[in-house]
Amino acid sequence: ILLIAGIVASWVTYVASLWFNHAQSIHNQIIQGIKRSEFIPFYQPIVDSRNQKVIGAEVLMRWQRQDGSLMPPNQFIPYAEANGLIVHMTKGLLGHVFNDVKQLASKRDALFFSVNIVPEHLDNDDLYQMLKGVVESGELQQHSISLEITERLPIKDLVAARKMLDKFYAIGIDLKLDDAGTGYGGFSYVQHLGISTLKIDKMFVDTIGRQDNFNTKTIEAIISFAQKSNLNMIAEGVEDDKQVAYLSEQGVYFIQGYVYSKPLPAKQFFH
Ligand code: C2E
Ligand code: CA
Ligand code: CA
Ligand code: CA
Repeated sequence: ILLIAGIVASWVTYVASLWFNHAQSIHNQIIQGIKRSEFIPFYQPIVDSRNQKVIGAEVLMRWQRQDGSLMPPNQFIPYAEANGLIVHMTKGLLGHVFNDVKQLASKRDALFFSVNIVPEHLDNDDLYQMLKGVVESGELQQHSISLEITERLPIKDLVAARKMLDKFYAIGIDLKLDDAGTGYGGFSYVQHLGISTLKIDKMFVDTIGRQDNFNTKTIEAIISFAQKSNLNMIAEGVEDDKQVAYLSEQGVYFIQGYVYSKPLPAKQFFH
């Protein structure tokens, strides 16, 4: 028994140390990455299905490592969100976005660029000051920045968050609710935060056109809630024409998904 206990104990210590070293190294690597400006935007077009025009894009972070590899967000965002690093990464990301947008020809239609934020971004006015500076500089020309906040993460103080958000609204930056229907705040975020748009999660879009007719009731409920609340809608993760047709029948015209385009590097999006 002692032997087994000993083996178990050393195994536990070993696994714990592996985990600790891993956490240490990803932490330091992210800090290096911030210094080197390695967190770059990809842009996924959001399209009006009635005329196939691009009306904006979601800004999706990628980690461009020095060896040239590109790391997808699921490998570093959860850690960065849990450790406050994401706030610094978003700053760097926005620097890239402003540069990219500046280079757009002025005769193009106005586009919005939707940036993912976490509740921590609303704890102080750093992000607001940064965006205010850029908005007032006129560098964005006719284009605009929009924020999206996920329902996955709790907001501790909705009243304080709303106060900060009102400052963004005053300079023409609106807020979209990401992953609507999947998470925490539920529709209390809509009531408290002055949300302009619901992003209908892929989880619900996936239920469209399934043979077993699995739970399209939920997406119908979300759509009718949005309509009654006068919210705009963007459907996310839309992969085929059947889904586009169904959504269009329901009055959802703004589409983000592989059916139109995957997230693109700046060079391709701003061709
Ligand atoms: P999200 O905000 O829900 O972003 C949408 C994700 O769905 C993106 O994954 C996008 O590539 C993917 N997607 C869009 N259309 C389709 C489709 O038709 N089919 C499929 N299979 N997937 C589709 P991505 O880029 O890997 O990002 C994953 C998540 O990482 C995001 O989910 C978001 O939660 C997080 N993330 C990305 N960039 C940032 C960021 O700058 N800040 C923060 N806080 N989170 C970010
Ligand atoms: Ca998002
Ligand atoms: Ca989303
Ligand atoms: Ca999602």
